[in-house]
Amino acid sequence: MRVAIYPGSFDPITYGHLNIIERGARLFDKLVIAVAHNVKKQSLFTVEERLDMIRETTQDFPNVEIDAFSGLLIDYANSKNACAVLRGLRSLSDFDFEFQMALMNHRLNPDIETVFLMTGEEHLFVASQLVRELGSFGGDISGLVPPLVHDRVKEKFK
Ligand code: ADP
Repeated sequence: MRVAIYPGSFDPITYGHLNIIERGARLFDKLVIAVAHNVKKQSLFTVEERLDMIRETTQDFPNVEIDAFSGLLIDYANSKNACAVLRGLRSLSDFDFEFQMALMNHRLNPDIETVFLMTGEEHLFVASQLVRELGSFGGDISGLVPPLVHDRVKEKFK
């Protein structure tokens, strides 16, 4: 059974993430979406709220599992018997950071591959940060996130 981990902050989940999830779920037997507990990063939504939104927007994928983790990603991937870490790429600036992470994770465990999927072109500019910023100013985020997430963001800034 080929298991992949798709880690991230998902603060909140966007159509860009969902595009990677849909395609990743086709490539692997099981895809674990893993929300990173990062105490250093200030977040808009709690981990529970993020997990909840992911759960509700990925119900149609039978081989997707949802979880949260803290500590080293590669240790977590090991504990799940994963063969791969899945990441999405939007731009050259993503690449820089992702390249460094992938090399480091390869050093830590060469048995776990990092697999990159290029973003769907319609999601090139979709980022959680943009959703948070637009949301805080009352901007229209309806094309960036599913309706349920749209409502939760609106509620946060009410
Ligand atoms: P963000 O960078 O939007 O805060 P995360 O930290 O939650 O997102 O990222 C998790 C993974 O999803 C990363 O590999 C990131 O590059 C990828 N990702 C985020 N948004 C998109 C998008 N619009 N298209 C493709 N991949 C994306």
